[in-house]
Amino acid sequence: MGKVYLTGAGPGDIELLTVKALRVIKEADVIIYDRLANPDLLEEAKNGCEFVYVGKEDGRHIVPQDDINEVIYQNALKHDNVVRLKGGDPFVFGRGGEEALYLQERGVKFDVIPGITSAISAPAYAGIPVTHRGVAVSFRVVTGHESPNKKVSQIPWNHFKTDDTIVFLMGLHNLPKISKKLIEIGKAKDYPVAVISKGTTKDQIVVVGTLENIVEKAKDVPTPALIVVGKVVELREQLKWFEGNA
Ligand code: SAH
Repeated sequence: MGKVYLTGAGPGDIELLTVKALRVIKEADVIIYDRLANPDLLEEAKNGCEFVYVGKEDGRHIVPQDDINEVIYQNALKHDNVVRLKGGDPFVFGRGGEEALYLQERGVKFDVIPGITSAISAPAYAGIPVTHRGVAVSFRVVTGHESPNKKVSQIPWNHFKTDDTIVFLMGLHNLPKISKKLIEIGKAKDYPVAVISKGTTKDQIVVVGTLENIVEKAKDVPTPALIVVGKVVELREQLKWFEGNA
């Protein structure tokens, strides 16, 4: 029985990979990877390493999570070094916890290798610090993915009333609802919002607006994208340092 490395691939820029993640990628017999893990990283693998793609689209699974769990497990029965490579950090909306539990229940050893999450690094590459003295003492990272069919929202919108910075992952398609809800709980209509697409990569796009106009401004932005809400967004004007191709 082999060992599984639940590994964070970082947000996109391949240099935002940990030294430890690079080592296990180089030693891997098989790499099971997501759409969000930069495929250029696979070039670091040794000759003969197998690659298994279990892509995900914008938080929605193409391969159901139960099947992914089983694929990882079956590979651990066959190989010594199994790398499960996931975009960002494996435990930040990466379902790494579920994979770890599945393995633990079957007696498979695993390590978790944290990765740089898009939640803070995409804002950083957009020139937006998620906290800033005198502006934001906290940041919240929340899922923006909720089925529109849900009658009662599971997202505790009222808790966000006094939040400084809020980062929504998987929320682009719900941006109209997110901005409406935030206005409903009392945020000003001109409260700053940024949408960051393909953050940290050469294709990064940043759109800045307000709760009132961001839906219109960001309507053509491609995924993966995240939403940053808060006064810290205003710092971008002075702090933007990375503009992808632009
Ligand atoms: N584990 C990942 C998040 C997985 S959820 C992490 O820690 O980053 C997938 C969501 O992450 C996407 O819908 C998007 O909101 C966000 N995301 C991932 N990579 C991104 C990137 N390079 N730029 C902007 N958003 C990104």
